[in-house]
Amino acid sequence: MHPTSLTTLADVVGGRLADVLDPEAQVTQPAVFDSREVVPGSLFLALRGEHTDGHAYAEAAVNKGAAVALVTKPVGVPAIVVDDVLAAMGRLGRFLLHDAFGTARVVAITGSAGKTSTKDLIAQVLPGDVVATPQSFNNEIGLPLTITMATAGTDYLVLEMGARHIGDIRDLTRIAEPDISVITNVGTAHVGEFGGRENIAQAKGEIVEALQPGGLAVLNADDDFVRDMGHRTRGRIVTYGLDEQAAIRAVDITIDGHGCPSYTLTTPEGSARVRLQFVGEVQVHNSLAAAAVAREAGLDVEQIAAGLSEALPRSRWRMETTTRADGVTIVNDAYNANPHSMRHSLNALASMTRGHDQRSVAVLGRMNELGQDERTAHEEIGRYAAELGLDQIILVGGEEAGWMQQGASSTGATAVHLPDQDAALHLLRTTLQPGDVVLIKASRGVQLQQLAQALLQLN
Ligand code: ATP
Ligand code: MG
Repeated sequence: MHPTSLTTLADVVGGRLADVLDPEAQVTQPAVFDSREVVPGSLFLALRGEHTDGHAYAEAAVNKGAAVALVTKPVGVPAIVVDDVLAAMGRLGRFLLHDAFGTARVVAITGSAGKTSTKDLIAQVLPGDVVATPQSFNNEIGLPLTITMATAGTDYLVLEMGARHIGDIRDLTRIAEPDISVITNVGTAHVGEFGGRENIAQAKGEIVEALQPGGLAVLNADDDFVRDMGHRTRGRIVTYGLDEQAAIRAVDITIDGHGCPSYTLTTPEGSARVRLQFVGEVQVHNSLAAAAVAREAGLDVEQIAAGLSEALPRSRWRMETTTRADGVTIVNDAYNANPHSMRHSLNALASMTRGHDQRSVAVLGRMNELGQDERTAHEEIGRYAAELGLDQIILVGGEEAGWMQQGASSTGATAVHLPDQDAALHLLRTTLQPGDVVLIKASRGVQLQQLAQALLQLN
């Protein structure tokens, strides 16, 4: 973190110092909320979670070298006491970015699906010193926390922004005003909470409303709702996609045996071949968005294509593909699921096995937060999987898995409904054959990565 004294920090966040011996001592390292991650000079955040209260770990954090703890009540170790740690972090983030060091350009990314993949691609293709959101730390705590990872030497801050409600993104952009805003798509993630795609578009579009006239909106030309957001920004606009009108396009797309796409990147300045190491055709769009950002950073088309081709997926449990010694491939996509991403992952599974004489197996669990459409949405995914002609469809869990099975069966296909992961493991243990590709996907809460890990340990 940009070195900041405890007095300044207390001032910035509107808190008071407690048990502090040296008010001029400095925080020099990023904020952390896990005391095990503290290094000398860290800022420790005492967050209250569902099961634990970070205040109980403040002493351990200070013993490990934390310069100070940010708390809501004194705990007997050097601390800054505030009413609300989240609000305090927001103020700190804004201060660091706008007052302490004003040089980093902010790239903000939102959308229903593909935020993290796009963020990882952008972070790897941009030149200079780049600091990006770790994993999916995309909310009001993760965003300022990422800003504390930047220093005066940081050229780009690449920030994933998540939205559950209208106004969420607006609040995040008040902490970190974007210079470049990227929207991947307006899908159906959290549609239950939002109440419709229009409302999701309303919420996501706040990211382009936050741009100054010199800023750049990077918009997906293939998504009608995203394309329409051009009206909501004062910034310049660049579009990407397969649409012929898009400024940054992909043509001649091919998919290799691992499911990784290649394509010719076409820009107004020229074109070059890209070979992605990310799995799934959806990554074409994510990488086109990254290309638009890299172009804005001044890279030429050859440099952009090379950067995209070298980039590696960074996130766990997202199409994490491992081939066992016996030749069975496990695709662990258990990080999360919604109808949009389910379809895309099923497509990726189909393309990984198509023409390779390999069997495709989908093991799917429930999708959360779908509101009143949940039954239909699950039935449709079951039907979709069946219509792709997958070799085996296994639905794991309760009622929702049953709906997916009904959807699959309605096409005449056979799909197996099993009560839990143990039953699935038992079945797969005896039926998997060398060459099989197994996709494992459900909402985060289902914890289906356990099945993926168990399957990997089998061999
Ligand atoms: P989260 O909201 O969980 O942080 P995210 O928006 O960051 O998700 P990713 O983690 O990049 O999204 O991707 C999650 C899943 O969504 C992937 O496994 C893939 O199946 C699907 N996906 C990725 N990119 C796209 C895209 N552009 N369009 C549709 N689906 C996508
Ligand atoms: Mg994410």
